[in-house]
Amino acid sequence: MSQKEKTLDEFVGDKWLSFTAEGHVGLGVRSFLDLRSWFRNNDVPSCEVCNEAGVKAVLCQKEGCKVRIHQYCLGNLFAKKKGETVCPSCSSHWQYTGPKEEAVEDDV
Ligand SMILES: [Zn+2]
Ligand SMILES: [Zn+2]
Repeated sequence: MSQKEKTLDEFVGDKWLSFTAEGHVGLGVRSFLDLRSWFRNNDVPSCEVCNEAGVKAVLCQKEGCKVRIHQYCLGNLFAKKKGETVCPSCSSHWQYTGPKEEAVEDDV
C-alpha cells in the first residue's frame, strides 16, 4: 500500500472522506460538520478570542507570539478591559485604534 493510499484510507476511516459505490472518493459526513476543527488542526491558526479560524485576523505585534485575533473580536475584548489593550497571551501592548468603518493605513 502506498503512502498516498494509506493517507486516503485514514481519511476514510475517520469519515473525512468516503468511497462511493463506484469506487470514487467523496467527502465524508465529518467534512461538512467538522471543517472548522479541521482548520484548527491544519495550520490555520485560530482566533484567540472566538476560536474560529483566524484567516483574516490581526497578529500580535510581539515577535514570537503566535496570537491572532479578529478585528471585531479585538473590539469585544478591549471594550471589556476599558482601554487596557494588551495581548491575552504575552501581555505586551496591543496597538489598537478602536473599531473603524474602513481600514485606515497607519503611516507610523
Ligand atoms: Zn475571533
Ligand atoms: Zn502576544
